[in-house]
Amino acid sequence: MPGRILVVDDVATNRIVMKVRLADACYQVIQADSGQAALRAARQDRPDLILLDVMMSDMNGIEVCRALKADPETMEIPVIMVTSGDAADSKIRALKAGADDFLAKPLDELLLLARVRSLLRASETAQELALREGTRRALGFDDPAASFIGQGRIALLAPRRETAMAWKSALRSRLHADLPVMTRAEALALPGPERVPDVFLIAANLEGQSDGLSLLPDLRARSATRHASVVMLMPAMARESAAMALDLGANDMIFDPFAVDELALRLEAQLVRKHQADRLRNSLQDGLEMAVRDPLTGLFNRRYALPHLARMAERAVEMRRPFAVMQLDLDRFKLVNDRHGHAAGDAVLEQVARILADNMRPVDLVARIGGEEFLVALPETTHDIAMQAAERLRRCVDETAVALPGRIGTLHVSCSIGVASCGNQPCTAQDLLHRADAALYAAKAEGRNKVTSGPAAA
Ligand code: GH3
Ligand code: MG
Ligand code: MG
Repeated sequence: MPGRILVVDDVATNRIVMKVRLADACYQVIQADSGQAALRAARQDRPDLILLDVMMSDMNGIEVCRALKADPETMEIPVIMVTSGDAADSKIRALKAGADDFLAKPLDELLLLARVRSLLRASETAQELALREGTRRALGFDDPAASFIGQGRIALLAPRRETAMAWKSALRSRLHADLPVMTRAEALALPGPERVPDVFLIAANLEGQSDGLSLLPDLRARSATRHASVVMLMPAMARESAAMALDLGANDMIFDPFAVDELALRLEAQLVRKHQADRLRNSLQDGLEMAVRDPLTGLFNRRYALPHLARMAERAVEMRRPFAVMQLDLDRFKLVNDRHGHAAGDAVLEQVARILADNMRPVDLVARIGGEEFLVALPETTHDIAMQAAERLRRCVDETAVALPGRIGTLHVSCSIGVASCGNQPCTAQDLLHRADAALYAAKAEGRNKVTSGPAAA
């Protein structure tokens, strides 16, 4: 875990006390004695976290926080504001300025360290996602579309239903979010991922002692709720449980009794963070998807198809099930490009891909493995059935009129198909491909627009 912490305080003894505590916990500490020095150090030294005193002579800590959060270079660094009082309005101002948390002096070391660990862990995850996103972009994929943030969903889990309803009515006017009231059992039974809450607000004690707290690892262990944010509501003075909640992976916590405004701000911050993380995760998913798809036809590409074919063949052998492959190549395709242009050739490829995708079962693998070459793998399919399917495809391609781009007419193309299969005898993907290829070659030699069966397995 990274661990460079910038301590900002204009009183030298405060900085030293803090440094000793943090160094004891093995963090590296850098110091700044004013607001201006803090902004400089944040940019230059890139700390992993900032502990920021609210009252300083040159600049109010709140202003420093606002400046840090407005600068793209420093906005991702978590900030804990430190103050001498526990006044509700300065808490609100700190949270509104973008601070991740707010602690009052004298600092409670247990809570401070738990909070530091929790924020460092969260920013590590955010950095990892951002790094992968950067790699995705470096590979040439587009930026993720800035998706519309719809209404958020925050589940409320309180010891009594009336309590949760009271939270709901207090929060409703402050948050643009759906606020379902839930029981512990309901939260654990969410099928997901649709309609799963973005954030859970959970009282540490629900029906029993600490059963809210113990819900945390259960939510993290379920795929539907794994990425949801959790804000724990801790009983007053329950410092050790609060530290434990953070260590168990709560994204934030607040002590009872709480100010509704503070709770609303904390929940809103979690909603925003959750949406950012979701967006990155989705774009990574899309990136992976794009890496295995051919952009022109949307079919799987060669990189994906060959190893997948190998696994399908292994599985067929293992299960002693029939398995067949087809290799399909367009006839005299070069002529299409030469006569009608490359765009017309592309339109033909797209149309043929559509015919393949529409005529095959979802369990079949359909891929574009070369310029005008396609592969279809058919699990649970005997040689005869594969031959019939290939003949159906050949006819469909032959009979389909492809519209030329620019509405300048239509065009007919044909294809040749080689079929190979493994029945009772074991065979490998390589062997199947080899035989399908030989069959395809024979179809071309026999005059094209033909389906030919490969030699039997050796
Ligand atoms: P055969 O019947 O023997 O298969 O003849 P052919 O002309 O189809 O075969 P050949 O391998 O000589 O030519 C394949 C052509 O496919 C050459 C290339 O210009 C074209 N091609 C490959 N990829 C693409 C593509 O992405 N778009 C377009 N428009 N053409 C492509
Ligand atoms: Mg060809
Ligand atoms: Mg070819």
